[in-house]
Amino acid sequence: MSEKKHILIVEDEIKIASLIQKYLVLHEYISSHVSNGIEALNSVKNCMPDLIILDVMLPHLDGLEVCKKLREMTDVPIIFLSARIEEVDHLIGFEAGADDYVTKPFRPLELMARVKAILNRRNHKKVENVLSAGAVTLNVDTHSVYVKGRLIKLTLNEFNLLRAFLEYPNKVYSRQELLTASHGKYSENYERTIDSHIKNLRKKLTVDTLIPSQIESIYGVGYKFSSNLSH
Ligand code: CA
Repeated sequence: MSEKKHILIVEDEIKIASLIQKYLVLHEYISSHVSNGIEALNSVKNCMPDLIILDVMLPHLDGLEVCKKLREMTDVPIIFLSARIEEVDHLIGFEAGADDYVTKPFRPLELMARVKAILNRRNHKKVENVLSAGAVTLNVDTHSVYVKGRLIKLTLNEFNLLRAFLEYPNKVYSRQELLTASHGKYSENYERTIDSHIKNLRKKLTVDTLIPSQIESIYGVGYKFSSNLSH
């Protein structure tokens, strides 16, 4: 079962904050509440929530400023709560980096639907951006590669090669296809450079001599990345 998501509410009107909290709890979320922008930034620094519901009109530091500052440190989803009078500010709100907005007065169920939609979108994105096979895990967003949990450094060409392999484990790639994947273009003159990239990639991926290389040479064709470690 998936663990409960933590939603931070930033709202100076206690009645509204309590109403949102009540609905969040009903929908199986964990929620916390702060009533101004400074507290919001501190709270996020201490404990990163999964989503933030951010009122635009706040004392001291307004929601737009808070949103901009948050975006300097995180891409956590943000939903603006905006009073009707602020409607003209919606565009500015999105420029500040929010993911969505709800206009006051709002229906709590509408807000819950938005929260759910954004969190689902995030989940799918996360799954798509992490590729793994056997001992190797590659994160497209952070451009990092782990072998058995150990971070390894790859050149851009090696990273692109590995990404192609992990997108279709066990697929036999020709050198031509691998060259296009790693360099973005194909040139006959460079076909053999793939062999040296593969050699380096193999070496880097074999951080533990007990792990056999997952990259296999297929005679007369090219290479494949085996998803199975025992061969
Ligand atoms: Ca307010």
